Amino acid sequence: MSLSNKLFQGIGMTSQRTRDRLIQRLKDQGIDNELVLEVMARVPRHVFVDEALAHRAYEDTALPIGYGQTISQPYIVALMTQQLLVDGIPNSVLEIGSGCGYQTAVLASIFPQVYSVERIEALHKLAKKRQAELEFYNVQLRHTDGNLGWPIPNYQFDRIIITAACTEIPEVLTQQLVEGGSMIYPFDDGRDQTLMKLNKTSQGVDTEALIKVSFVPLLTGLA
Ligand code: SAH
Repeated sequence: MSLSNKLFQGIGMTSQRTRDRLIQRLKDQGIDNELVLEVMARVPRHVFVDEALAHRAYEDTALPIGYGQTISQPYIVALMTQQLLVDGIPNSVLEIGSGCGYQTAVLASIFPQVYSVERIEALHKLAKKRQAELEFYNVQLRHTDGNLGWPIPNYQFDRIIITAACTEIPEVLTQQLVEGGSMIYPFDDGRDQTLMKLNKTSQGVDTEALIKVSFVPLLTGLA
């Protein structure tokens, strides 16, 4: 059996049965996009966490991944992904904050082209290793500050997902979003964090608040 096949499978607390219980929980909480549910049942979240935490990988909670960062809660990953897909399957998506690469892998199972940036070099390298092991060939990862956008000027994406809480949206990200595209991001107003959706139209941008959330902050510079 190939390494990637082995990694997709699991046993005991990482088995398909355990994962299916998580999927039922996501459904109970209102996740109804069949593709998102199918992909989240298949992508092995336990591969993205420390071995000592693998038995908790299919609980619906965020878990530590080192460097003061976390792997996002499955419900939030599902909700954000579902929001990116309300108008069908777009071609490209840019993720800010690869972390260990779990959300990246979910996106790569759906979008033809996935781009993701991470400011912490060790996590960037880890995410890169995981994508290679799982044989995702449609992902481009960069060790760079997401506040600067994708490091090719004038590049544009159909969707953008920010997976760290920001106090304002970096201007370059709105520029790198196609007209008709949307961006999903946690916004921190200094008191609470709210998951927001921004739509870019020919008239400008409009935003919509979704739910209260809790993310690690979007920082600046490299580490
Ligand atoms: N998408 C990840 C979430 C990881 S947590 C998942 O699937 O679990 C958020 C990540 O954003 C952290 O790894 C953090 O280092 C990263 N981050 C924070 N500020 C950033 C910035 N300015 N540019 C790139 N990555 C950033």
